[in-house]
Amino acid sequence: MDFSMSERAQQIHQQVIQFMEEFVYPAEEALHQATADDRWSVPPVLEELKQRAKSLGLWNLFLPSAFSDSGLSNVDYAPICETMGRVFAAPEIFNCSAPDTGNMEVLLHYGSEGQKEQWLTPLLNGDTRSAFAMTEPDVASSDATNICTRIERQGEHYIVDGRKWWSSGAADPRCELFIVMGLSDPGASKYQQHSMIIVPRNTPGVELVRNLTVFGFDDAPHGHSEVVFDRVKVPAENILLGEGSGFEIAQGRLGPGRIHHCMRAMGAAERALELMCRRTKSREAFGGPLYKNDVVLHNIAHSRMEIDQARLLTLRAAHMMDTVGNKAARREIAMIRLLPCVQPAR
Ligand SMILES: Cc1cc2nc3c(=O)[nH]c(=O)nc-3n(C[C@H](O)[C@H](O)[C@H](O)COP(=O)(O)OP(=O)(O)OC[C@H]3O[C@@H](n4cnc5c(N)ncnc54)[C@H](O)[C@@H]3O)c2cc1C
Repeated sequence: MDFSMSERAQQIHQQVIQFMEEFVYPAEEALHQATADDRWSVPPVLEELKQRAKSLGLWNLFLPSAFSDSGLSNVDYAPICETMGRVFAAPEIFNCSAPDTGNMEVLLHYGSEGQKEQWLTPLLNGDTRSAFAMTEPDVASSDATNICTRIERQGEHYIVDGRKWWSSGAADPRCELFIVMGLSDPGASKYQQHSMIIVPRNTPGVELVRNLTVFGFDDAPHGHSEVVFDRVKVPAENILLGEGSGFEIAQGRLGPGRIHHCMRAMGAAERALELMCRRTKSREAFGGPLYKNDVVLHNIAHSRMEIDQARLLTLRAAHMMDTVGNKAARREIAMIRLLPCVQPAR
């Protein structure tokens, strides 16, 4: 398998590396401090960096070649996405962060012209953010056919009624839309029972209950929220692709979305390893630096091998997505998600 990047991708990667060094790493402390001071508002420095990246064309690099001038394949994008993953806020600076990337792809692939104009364009411009609401507390949501939030047609509207959780980005003050998956026809065949619908964030009945934590972190100002949809009424034209297409869209969305998480996780793991190495040099115990202990060296070597294995598997999945398609690469995408240095990426 050939994992080499195109010349164009190599150029973009160099530009992203340079941008990270010049602007993102130096802003890390300010970004951290701003969120510590005011947890649920957006640090102004983040918006400044977004505008800077956008003006240089380092923007929406995740978009498949059919929709973007940068024309990157998954193999092309993998190292670039990994570089962004080295700083938690960086993917957003390049408008390449979850869940917006997955939602933009859904709107690109399955949205009507009207839906694209109203919801996709502001997302592509980085003016708004979005959330994807599939997972529910009441059912095992790894099996999308279990989803039981109701989406019921009533004249020229749909009524959305149910409870979701882990809706990433729902707490962001710039979040303007949810893409909600729900049960629209329990009587239909198994894979045609569900639909996806666009729910504007400010619709009456949308209630943000709380933000969940992962290993004690709330990911402010982004958040992973529990959200109640209490008989929320939305126009019928907000349905995506037509009633009964929810399962098909879910399958289409989760593949690319998941591999991007894995690419970013690789960057975070690589950065963590670098920090660990630095720490073992600077810290002394029993008359010498920590790295002089075999057990510490063993841990470093083990991490090196785990990251390299994960990267190779990620590139293999990316290569398969490029060559035989997302559907055929399903098994490979599922495997990389479970690797130790990638979990708990979803
Ligand atoms: C940080 C974070 C962000 C998230 N963001 C979003 C988001 O934006 N939108 C959203 O909708 N969801 C989001 N999720 C939710 C996530 O996608 C779900 O947790 C996931 O789909 C699993 O669903 P569940 O929690 O209901 O687990 P369950 O379906 O109850 O599964 C529990 C366990 O059983 C295992 N399992 C299930 N079936 C099988 C099987 N057949 N064979 C073997 N093992 C099995 C699963 O792997 C899992 O370990 C997020 C989660 C996290 C941690």
